[in-house]
Amino acid sequence: MPVPVSQMWTVASYVIRQKLAGRKQYPLVLMLEPLFRCNLACAGCGKIQYPAHILKKDLSPEECFRAVDECGAPMVSIPGGEPLMHPEIDKIVEGLVARKKYIYLCTNALLLKEKIDLFKPSKYLTFSVHLDGQREEHDLAVCREGGYDIAVDAVKEALKRGFRVTTNTTLFDGANPKSVRAFFDEMMDLGVEGMMLSPGYSYDKAPDQKHFLGRARTRRMFRAILSNRKKSWQFNLSPLFLEFLMGKRTYPCTPWGMPTYNVFGWQKPCYLLQDGYAESFKELIETTEWQNYGTESGNPACANCMVHSGYEASAVNATFSSLEGFLATVKATLFTKYEDEQALRMLDEPQAPVNPLIQIEPTQRTSHHLQETRA
Ligand code: SF4
Repeated sequence: MPVPVSQMWTVASYVIRQKLAGRKQYPLVLMLEPLFRCNLACAGCGKIQYPAHILKKDLSPEECFRAVDECGAPMVSIPGGEPLMHPEIDKIVEGLVARKKYIYLCTNALLLKEKIDLFKPSKYLTFSVHLDGQREEHDLAVCREGGYDIAVDAVKEALKRGFRVTTNTTLFDGANPKSVRAFFDEMMDLGVEGMMLSPGYSYDKAPDQKHFLGRARTRRMFRAILSNRKKSWQFNLSPLFLEFLMGKRTYPCTPWGMPTYNVFGWQKPCYLLQDGYAESFKELIETTEWQNYGTESGNPACANCMVHSGYEASAVNATFSSLEGFLATVKATLFTKYEDEQALRMLDEPQAPVNPLIQIEPTQRTSHHLQETRA
C-alpha cells in the first residue's frame, strides 16, 4: 500500500506554497519528543542518558499542540524516548489527527499490542516501528533478546486492525548488506506500507562510539544495499535522499527542515546536536547560526553526518526547486532499477567480524518508569 495520495498532495502543495512565498528555511517534519525515557537501552542511542529528573519529564498535550501550531509543518514525527510510555500519548495523537497532521509515531513496539486500543486507525496516523534488521541484527542493535519477535508480532496486530505501519531502520558500521536486503523482503512480506532508513549518527552520549559510519563507508554500504533494487520494496523516503545515501547526489544539510521540540524547548540546530535551545520556533529560525552547520561548514560534529533528519528535507527541497529536480524524482520513482554489477559483487564480499555492541545496564530508573507508566 503506497503513501496515500492525500498525504503526497498535502506535502507537495505545502512545499510549493513555501517556494512561492520565497521562504528558504521552512520546516517539513516536526520532530516532537514528548519524553526521553525508554524501555530499551540501545547502544547507539543518545537520548536515554539524561539524569533521572530529566527522564521523568513529559511534554503535556497542550505543549505539544502549541509547538505543532507554531511550527506549521504538515508532518509530525514523534520519537523519544519511547512515546508509548507517555501517559497521555493517546491525547497527543488525537489532537494532532484533529489538526490533520500526518503523524509518524516512532516506537520500538514493545508496548504496542498492550496500548493499541488507545488509538483509532486513521490516514493521519502511522506507527513507525523501529526494526534495525533481521532478528539477530535487531536484537543486537537494541540490546534485547526477543525484541524483534515482539515488534513483528505488534506489526501484524496493527496491520490486522487497519493501521498504517512503516518500519524505521538505523544502520551502523558492520551491517551486512545481504542481510539488510533479506530484511526488506521480510518487511514487505509482512505488509508494511514502506520502510525508512538512515545511517546512525555518533551521539556524544551514546555508549557505543565504535560503530558509527564515516561518509565514504556510508555511501559504499548503501550502494550495495540499494542498487539492483527489487520492485517489491517500498521506501517511505524521498527517492533523491536514497540516491544521496548511495553517493549519487550531494546536498547541503537543511537542519531547519526537521526541527526538534522537546522538554528543553526548540533544540538548536537539529535533532542530533544540542547547541542551546530557543523558546519559540521563530526564535529558533532567527537566532540559530545555520552557517555553522552541515558538512560543508567544517564543523567537526557534522563531518560524517548523512542522517535522514538533516538531509531528507534537502532532497525534498531539491525535487521542488527545479524542473530537473522534479524530473529526477519522477525518473527515480518510476523507471530506475539502479542496476550495478559492482554493487552485486559487493554483496558477496566477506564481512568484517562485528564486535558486539556495548550493552548498557538497564537501570532501576528505567524499569521503575516502565512500571509507573503501566500502572
Ligand atoms: S550535518 Fe547532521 S549533525 Fe550537522 S546540522 Fe546537519 S543534521 Fe545536524
